[in-house]
Amino acid sequence: MKYFSTRNTKYKISASKAIVKGLADDGGLYVPENFPEISAENISRLVAMDYRERAKYILSLFLDEFSAEEIAEYIEGAYYDGSFDQSGAAPVVNVKDGLSVLELWHGPTCAFKDMALKMLPHLLTASLDKTGEEKTAVILTATSGDTGKAALEGFKNVPRTKVYVYYPDNGVSDIQKLQMTSQEGENVGVCAVEGNFDDAQTGVKEIFTDRQYADKLEKAGYFLSSANSMNWGRLLPQICYYFSAYCDLVKEGKIKFGEYISVTVPTGNFGNILAGYYSKKMGLFINKFVCASNSNDVLTEFIKTGKYNKNRRFYTTVSPSMDILISSNLERLLFDLSDNDDAKIKEWMEVLKNSGEYSVDDTVFKKLSESFYSASCDDTKTLDTIGQYFKHHNYLVDTHTAVALSCAEEHITNNDDRLHMLVVSTASPYKFAQDVLKALSGETEKDAFSAIEKLYSFTGVAIPRPIAELKEKKPRFDEKVWKTQLKVALDKFLKLN
Ligand SMILES: *Cc1c(COP(=O)(O)O)cnc(C)c1O
Repeated sequence: MKYFSTRNTKYKISASKAIVKGLADDGGLYVPENFPEISAENISRLVAMDYRERAKYILSLFLDEFSAEEIAEYIEGAYYDGSFDQSGAAPVVNVKDGLSVLELWHGPTCAFKDMALKMLPHLLTASLDKTGEEKTAVILTATSGDTGKAALEGFKNVPRTKVYVYYPDNGVSDIQKLQMTSQEGENVGVCAVEGNFDDAQTGVKEIFTDRQYADKLEKAGYFLSSANSMNWGRLLPQICYYFSAYCDLVKEGKIKFGEYISVTVPTGNFGNILAGYYSKKMGLFINKFVCASNSNDVLTEFIKTGKYNKNRRFYTTVSPSMDILISSNLERLLFDLSDNDDAKIKEWMEVLKNSGEYSVDDTVFKKLSESFYSASCDDTKTLDTIGQYFKHHNYLVDTHTAVALSCAEEHITNNDDRLHMLVVSTASPYKFAQDVLKALSGETEKDAFSAIEKLYSFTGVAIPRPIAELKEKKPRFDEKVWKTQLKVALDKFLKLN
């Protein structure tokens, strides 16, 4: 299977090349030239399998240059017993009648980014071999909080790679920050950016498209790659857990095989929900997706009106990993909805870059409405939802998952949706302990570790080991730059001057 850019379908490249490059030179994102369809019969075969076997089947469909043995080896390396806690990689929990939650935060960094970033280092290292690339990959990552830690952890001490992470200085939780700045490993670096996530992501994209800088790196034996969901190797492993969750619902008797479900995803950069959309495109029985946003509701408006307008106030919320106004992966969805019309995508993205807004045409809007609903939820409602779910269902969620639950409820009421609802849970409540504690007890606790202790006393829910262990860790990195100075920090990290 070949891959091409959303902005130019003329040139096709292999999966390994797409994974090594991360982002196309034209600024577009790599997508497969077509999507494999899985028959109902073959989906039903997955029901009896475990997560690893399901993932092996799905990944093989997209990676035909990799042998079955190779793929099995990467999956074993990524999802071995012990890399996730005793709940497993992607458990589904039934919370109340008609509503289940897919918990994707049982990995080493306690957020769903582990699902892909445990896998990406295996795919990338193998892809370096397959493409004959001898230079060292510099994996540049802009993070709204969770990708950074998962990338650092996934790539730490992986030969022929270096990882450099930019995070918005005032846009991540205390725990997220300490997770990143205390990261161990010889090949890693972390830098705070004075700006928000969009500034960091835009800065990273600019470095990627800077030819002169690429030359400078090449002379020093480096090339750039990405661990953001712009990288196909990051998105692909995320398709697997939608199939897996559906099969678990069947196995648990919550739905009959073939029955349609609805899915709600707390959304920022549109990577997670896009992977879900791809699973539907491949034949999974999903009716609609609810795209859930916090007060940064640019996607809510887009899905309701067809007009994308990032010229709006940016809010810093209690769900920081979703504080995003430029959702990169939306480009992949539009490409698909417009039947791979690269010229149109290029035009819309140009208009977005120059004016901060664009509108899609009627055909694309109609298709968008066929697969997506949208809703948003502010901080007050987010905290209220955490309280409600703990009180009525004895189920503890983090702020991002709470946004999704609130939006799912709104959708179910407004649209009288009777299908089983699967809500995707993206982080451990302990990663955002201060806000979760406030939601439950009204208490404001400034110290993150005291909040964790108090949350534990209040709920009795086990503290994930990686978070408990964080208390003993000391920050190693204190680099901080203005949002236009990202390259300066990178030069220093790579010792280029
Ligand atoms: C990254 C993240 C999101 C948003 O996911 P996207 O793929 O960027 O839409 C939601 N919740 C948490 C906890 C995250 O880390």
